Amino acid sequence: MPDLPTNDARLLTVQPAGPHAEVKARVAAAVEGARAEILDLSHRIHAEPEPAFEEVKAATWVAEVLRRHGFEVQHPAGSLATAVRATRAGGRGKDGARIGILAEYDALPGLGHGCGHNTMAASGVGAAIALAAIADDLAGEIVFLGTPAEERGSGKQIMIDDGLFEGLDAALLFHPCDRDHVESHPLASEDADVVFTGLQAHASSDPWMGRNALDAVITLFNAVGLWRQQLRPTARVHGVIREGGTAANIIPDRTSAWFMIRSEDPREYDRMRERFQAMCEAAALATGTSAEVRFSGYASTMNNNAVLAERFRANMGAYGIVDQGDDPNAGSTDMANVSWICPTIHPDLAICEPGVPGHSTLFRDAAALPRADETTLLAATLIAQTAVDLFADPALVEAAWAAFRTQTAGRDPR
Ligand SMILES: [Zn+2]
Ligand SMILES: [Zn+2]
Repeated sequence: MPDLPTNDARLLTVQPAGPHAEVKARVAAAVEGARAEILDLSHRIHAEPEPAFEEVKAATWVAEVLRRHGFEVQHPAGSLATAVRATRAGGRGKDGARIGILAEYDALPGLGHGCGHNTMAASGVGAAIALAAIADDLAGEIVFLGTPAEERGSGKQIMIDDGLFEGLDAALLFHPCDRDHVESHPLASEDADVVFTGLQAHASSDPWMGRNALDAVITLFNAVGLWRQQLRPTARVHGVIREGGTAANIIPDRTSAWFMIRSEDPREYDRMRERFQAMCEAAALATGTSAEVRFSGYASTMNNNAVLAERFRANMGAYGIVDQGDDPNAGSTDMANVSWICPTIHPDLAICEPGVPGHSTLFRDAAALPRADETTLLAATLIAQTAVDLFADPALVEAAWAAFRTQTAGRDPR
């Protein structure tokens, strides 16, 4: 085991929020008891970052820990090689709530865990371990879902399509941040992969023979830049060039770019998608090349479940964490897709000082520091305690479903 930070006593000393404070204290003690195991998992995943769909080691390590704690583990689960589904029935029978504890573990290409998903994997596993410790006294089922490919690809949607979320009464997931927010408002989003195909030629001796695929990608970026003037402040479009040619003296015959398009309004998103497609075709027309555009990994807007949010807020309040209100900085997440099929929350807890940007080396490095470790353990505790609220009170589960039905009635995720 690596050197781990000294014991932060709050999980053993703080009186949890009621109701069921005694059970919640047992859950907190179980997280504290598994401190070394939980943080070792976080640090191992941080040290060996794997991008979307390639989280082979992370998923294997997650599955190993869950097996050790008496879970029945499916790995792979469904069609994704790096998905994990693990269940443990309550000792008082399966007739009760079925609560989903989620975990992400993908990293960012070229950056590593710049989104801190190592802390999500470890806290999700930690919450599952803590609930396993009190499973004999529960009715219902603990369902752990290790969900690959959040940063691109919307792995949770694939798992939903594979039936792995069936029967869940709630889905709980923590995300690391530079502040504490119980609710956030992610944007509808999709990836767009663009390939331009031209014709090679010598860039000096006979450039007029070629058709320049790099010119096409530059034309597309210029069009997108001009487009931004007329986009709403809550819309986003951003990209990188993946292939820009291979040598200065060859007219490139192939270039590719990876964009993401986002909006807070799914209808506006649909219009943006059409405009983007038209810009790709226009860039191809202008340069005599051809364009191929592939959209994938749709993430929807999010339904924050007010009943679950209220329980999480109360549980974190007992540990002195104050909700700083809705997160004003919106990205996107496939957790939003889950929020259309069952009551869902996706609270943020700080792992660093305010102002550290997400998706940066600063945030990546913070995700393995002692403060992030303590947040990971606290997040595991709060997620497990919110699950305790639900397991112990069928009326709360029904209230969460009632809020879900009101929020989603007559609406569509896209
Ligand atoms: Zn993230
Ligand atoms: Zn991210």
